[in-house]
Amino acid sequence: MINNKLKGILKEVTNLNYPDLKKLRHEVENNISNNQIGKAIAEHEDRVCSCPYCDSELINKWGVTRQGIQRFRCKACSKTFNALFSTPFYRMRKPEKWINYSNLMWNGTSLRKSASLLDINLKTAFRWRHIFLKQPQAITPSNLHGIIEADETFIAESFKGKRKICRPARKRGGGNIPQVPIIMVLDRSGNIVHKVIENNTKENIEAVLTPIISEGSVLCTDGNISYIGIAKGLNIDHKRLIGLDNQRVIESVYHIQTLNNYMMRWKSWLKRFCGVGTAYLENYLSWFRFMAQNKEHSEQVWVECAL
Ligand SMILES: [Zn+2]
Repeated sequence: MINNKLKGILKEVTNLNYPDLKKLRHEVENNISNNQIGKAIAEHEDRVCSCPYCDSELINKWGVTRQGIQRFRCKACSKTFNALFSTPFYRMRKPEKWINYSNLMWNGTSLRKSASLLDINLKTAFRWRHIFLKQPQAITPSNLHGIIEADETFIAESFKGKRKICRPARKRGGGNIPQVPIIMVLDRSGNIVHKVIENNTKENIEAVLTPIISEGSVLCTDGNISYIGIAKGLNIDHKRLIGLDNQRVIESVYHIQTLNNYMMRWKSWLKRFCGVGTAYLENYLSWFRFMAQNKEHSEQVWVECAL
């Protein structure tokens, strides 16, 4: 049942003109966002149980910040800190806009458009993107196991977003734009690791694979001979899928189609950004992985994950 207060508001709404309706929508969205963020922050506050400076668990509540975030004081080292101290959102302002911002990230909205939609400046939109990407970058798996698919992909080198080019350009082959190699690895449990590498050499690929591949795994790759030595070094089984379009399947389970499919989806998503600076490629890899792994996203998942 609708209460009278709301009835009154809804009646008023019909009298509003378009610009006022837009303002109203903005206000309503901010309020919804505020509630969601407020809930996520409150839950996070309840989980704070030690001092970020000295790890002591002797902490007391110590008032709230101007934005209403719980402050704490450590009895052991006397330092004070607020509940968001160890999160990417520490010192980030305008919490009422975070949920809407994370939605814009889901949609891959450009920085310029995000800034204008949320009425924040472009610099803030840029800074927030980096803050929101901290968590997706931090959740790189340390261990892949079982059937593992590995392959390289290439993206044209770009200095977009860089004022100065501070390292020598990659070698050009026949006047084409140099291609930046990326090694991607995944297992069938959904763990995904990716890394932009300097050159597509056995050493570079090995450096990425060695620390993450568990004993007893089976490595599936294309015909790139680098992987033969890598699998040997790791003492694991190796299935080479040599065939047209990497479509081959061995013993009905060994293939690299999960990975090739993922790569294709990443590249097609990447197109909306109209060229990505090489220096930022890792960001876009982590961003996409985060969304792929949180498919059933609720609006606040991005914020909740970071808290
Ligand atoms: Zn302390």
